[in-house]
Amino acid sequence: MGAEKENLENGGASGGGDEQQSKKAAKKQAKEALKAAKKAEHKAASGKDNTNANEESEKDCSEGKYGSAGMIQSKDKKEERVFVFVHDLKNYIGKGPVWIRGRIHTSRAKGKQCFLVLRQQSSTVQCILAVNDYISKQMVKFAGNIHKESIVDVSAKVVSVPNKIESCTEQDLELQLLEIFVVSQAKAQLPLQIEDASRPENTDDPEGLNIRVNQDTRLDNRVLDLRTPANQAIFRLEAGVCKLFRDILTDKGFVEIHTPKIISAASEGGANVFTVSYFKDSAYLAQSPQLYKQMAIAADFDKVFTVGAVFRAEDSNTHRHLTEFVGLDLEMAFKYHYHEVLNTIGETFTSIFKGLRDNYQREIEAVGQQFKVEPFKFLEPPLVLQFSEGVAMLREAGIETGDEEDLSTPNEKLLGRLVKAKYDTDFYILDKFPLVIRPFYTMPDPNDPKYSNSYDMFMRGEEILSGAQRIHDPEFLTERAKHHGIDISKIAAYIESFRFGCPPHAGGGIGMERVVMLYLGLDNIRKTSMFPRDPKRITP
Ligand code: ATP
Repeated sequence: MGAEKENLENGGASGGGDEQQSKKAAKKQAKEALKAAKKAEHKAASGKDNTNANEESEKDCSEGKYGSAGMIQSKDKKEERVFVFVHDLKNYIGKGPVWIRGRIHTSRAKGKQCFLVLRQQSSTVQCILAVNDYISKQMVKFAGNIHKESIVDVSAKVVSVPNKIESCTEQDLELQLLEIFVVSQAKAQLPLQIEDASRPENTDDPEGLNIRVNQDTRLDNRVLDLRTPANQAIFRLEAGVCKLFRDILTDKGFVEIHTPKIISAASEGGANVFTVSYFKDSAYLAQSPQLYKQMAIAADFDKVFTVGAVFRAEDSNTHRHLTEFVGLDLEMAFKYHYHEVLNTIGETFTSIFKGLRDNYQREIEAVGQQFKVEPFKFLEPPLVLQFSEGVAMLREAGIETGDEEDLSTPNEKLLGRLVKAKYDTDFYILDKFPLVIRPFYTMPDPNDPKYSNSYDMFMRGEEILSGAQRIHDPEFLTERAKHHGIDISKIAAYIESFRFGCPPHAGGGIGMERVVMLYLGLDNIRKTSMFPRDPKRITP
């Protein structure tokens, strides 16, 4: 339009007399035409009226069957409109018209026809709108101009198709549209295309022909990114992990508790803690609910769990660290041996894995459409190895690692591969960690002072739980804290909570996002955190 305007404006730059007069008139005419064109363009962009002058003069046989639904402000209930799900459409083939609310996934206008794909969460269906005796040209044009990702209400007949529609989840049917109303219009320019963001990452693309959406673009525009089928599945499966965790533990007699996130003293020493201002003072964000879980045990709740935010002020820019994550924490009193607890946690994981396998197959498959996912393997009961056995396996594989040294991330991963090769499991428990690498409150192993009653649990070779028997004797706790060089005055309240009698207990903390990432075999924890927080990102 810019170039066109320039030509028109330069049109009368030379000449004289009549010629000049007629040039002036032509210039005026051209200016008016330009104004009219602009007006029409503006109207089309605002979606209010997509008809051209010619069509305006024609009678619109579809009047009242398309347009904007207006801002829905809860004026009418329109109870006569019964909406159906896209994934249920097969039950309506050949029956009367149905109403569907969905998004315009793709749109292609072709002569007197318009093909749309309507998307509802992960389900997609092809729609066709063709000019005929009761569908006007204006209506087809209107439908073709609706921006992608807009939300529409359509009334349609469901018809079966002879050839499968490979590009849609509903492959055996299509919708013949009768009415279409825009409920919420999306911007014309999207920062990412859902099709690009959904593209399989496991297919070969040596020439780089496919547009890939990088992680920052996805996270910056998370509302759009979350609409991909894989993301729809990931966060449904994540809800499944939490539901299973809650249901399984509740069945085992655990009580769900809620612990404070604003605390007066750092839970695990002073490092890695976020300070927040608290009126005239400052406070901290809890790095773990551990102290409160333990106090609930001391208060006779016997078995407790909690699901909630955990904050870590660690400048760890890795594929598996967030500064805020969701902790699935549990604590349990036991009679004589912390293995009562270790086995309960092991069984809980087995039940979660079974629950995901049996009830979330659709989600697992949807993620598999985009990412390469090997099915998650586990044993029942789970494999339990001693830390020293793990060290021996690593040494056999040629790795130098000390008896009392923590496992480095690469060694942890290698051990996971060795365990998988030997035992065919993606989940295992490593028991009896060296005492020196565990926190001061960890109960030492009564049989070997080098070790402790502590354990980590792993999925696909990465740590997802850390836990231990905690010292419940205040005198011994004080002694161990002093041994670690901890200022006793700073943990006086913690030690105090064990002075009124406390049963022996053990527990652990699990990172929810890590469980989902590793269950699905994904490569980055940001894929399993809806709005991830890391050292470089605190928006959106
Ligand atoms: P790592 O050694 O991997 O940094 P950690 O030893 O600090 O973990 P714990 O403090 O024992 O972990 O926390 C228990 C569980 O919480 C971990 O096994 C993991 O699943 C999860 N977790 C810990 N830190 C993070 C983090 N920064 N981001 C996401 N999850 C985490």
